[in-house]
Amino acid sequence: MRYKKFLGQHFLHDTVKIARMIKEINPQKKDIILEIGPGSGVLTREFLKKAGKVIAVEIDKDAIEKLKEKTSEYNNLKIIHGDFLELDIKKLYEEQKFDLNQKFLVAGNIPYYITGPIIEKIIENRKIIDCAYLTIQKEVAERIVAKEGSKKYGTLSVFVQFYSEPHILFQINRKAFFPEPKVDSAFIKLILKQNEPQIKDHILFFKIVKAAFSERRKKVVNNLSKSLKISKNDIAEILNNLKIPLNVRAENISLVDFIRIFDNIYEKFL
Ligand code: SAH
Repeated sequence: MRYKKFLGQHFLHDTVKIARMIKEINPQKKDIILEIGPGSGVLTREFLKKAGKVIAVEIDKDAIEKLKEKTSEYNNLKIIHGDFLELDIKKLYEEQKFDLNQKFLVAGNIPYYITGPIIEKIIENRKIIDCAYLTIQKEVAERIVAKEGSKKYGTLSVFVQFYSEPHILFQINRKAFFPEPKVDSAFIKLILKQNEPQIKDHILFFKIVKAAFSERRKKVVNNLSKSLKISKNDIAEILNNLKIPLNVRAENISLVDFIRIFDNIYEKFL
């Protein structure tokens, strides 16, 4: 198959890795798998053998032709030709015959150029998705799972960990794909939280997290004071009350502490 770089097409050919992915996902008859970017169907075929149903969303018509050829013996596949980012997942959910409390299982070796928007979309639809298994760029995966105290910890870590429990399952060398990408990959699992932390305003919360990280080497007191236009003294007082050191940098603030800082700022100033 000819490949289209602009669609992030890198096809996985390493059968050992494919088998490992299937083992991790462990599809069951009860599962409805929503696959992002099936390409010619290396994962799709394995899903079809084990899962009750697979819904594969692929933007490329040529890939779909190939996918159809490779999956013709199965009748539990629904192919959607389109952009995953435009997909109405809630509508699709209502069209399925889900049992009570059952949700989508999302999976895919996704196109890396839209990793951020894909993860955001999964998180937006977290009430109807249990879990997502994704192949993404290794460095992005490391940022997603990073904890406070790590150089890789940042807004992305806080965002993804707020809504899910992320795990790196294993790494995949670039040689496992054709054409070979310029980066190595990791296969990750996001378990969407049933009970996410309660906060007053999600958008404002992440604005504040972003502000805290705006100049990584500066103290949070300075970063927050500057972007929220609240005096340094007021921010310092909040940190003091929470027993967080005044010279703290965003890198060292845990998710729980970000929530506590936000709650206090929200109560007093927003
Ligand atoms: N899963 C296959 C292909 C991975 S390459 C494999 O493992 O071999 C990424 C796939 O995502 C390509 O098939 C590409 O055409 C598709 N794709 C790219 N952008 C997309 C989008 N916005 N929506 C759905 N599919 C997309």
